Amino acid sequence: MKYICPYCRKEMEIEVFDKVNAQEDPDLQERCASGDLFKTSCPHCKQDFMVQYPLVYIDTVNKFILWLSQDEHPEIGNLTRPLIQQGYRLRRCSTIREFTEKIAIFEDGMDDVVVELAKYDSFIEFIDNKKGTAEDITSIEYQRTENEVMKINIRTGDQGMSFLIPVGMVEEEIAQNPELYEIRDDEIPLINSDWILSLFEESAGQA
Ligand SMILES: [Zn+2]
Repeated sequence: MKYICPYCRKEMEIEVFDKVNAQEDPDLQERCASGDLFKTSCPHCKQDFMVQYPLVYIDTVNKFILWLSQDEHPEIGNLTRPLIQQGYRLRRCSTIREFTEKIAIFEDGMDDVVVELAKYDSFIEFIDNKKGTAEDITSIEYQRTENEVMKINIRTGDQGMSFLIPVGMVEEEIAQNPELYEIRDDEIPLINSDWILSLFEESAGQA
């Protein structure tokens, strides 16, 4: 694909993929999981940068499909129903960071709704304990799950702070209000921090 370098404005060629199958191509799988697939370097000015383009990622073992796409409705026709019947989780990711995080979450066998709520709970704990303000936070990231405890990292610039959130505790929180957290795979939902914030804004609006 032809691409204009954002730094020197010269034309360059970048390699893009439409579709990655995690099991058929372990090398591409690894580059997706790390985000390296989107890293490129300009041959003219030697600047390194990321280029996001639409990509479909399929994992047939962990049974999930991700659409990296900024379009609200990725074009996949009437394929969703048979995939859902086969037990696939379908998600859209709007950024590379969401995409790599989603791969980590599903490869860990985790429910991404549980993870997003754990990230939100970590955020509340961060604010309540006066570790900083919401403006200080540069990112909230899922790290991993070990012995049924999720590790969430909150970054503020160069600093990082870890929060350990038991899976069972978050599952209980969801069980208290299951309708609120219901999602529909046939809509290829975007399950991210904006989504979880919108849930609480809506329920606050109703109260
Ligand atoms: Zn350049």
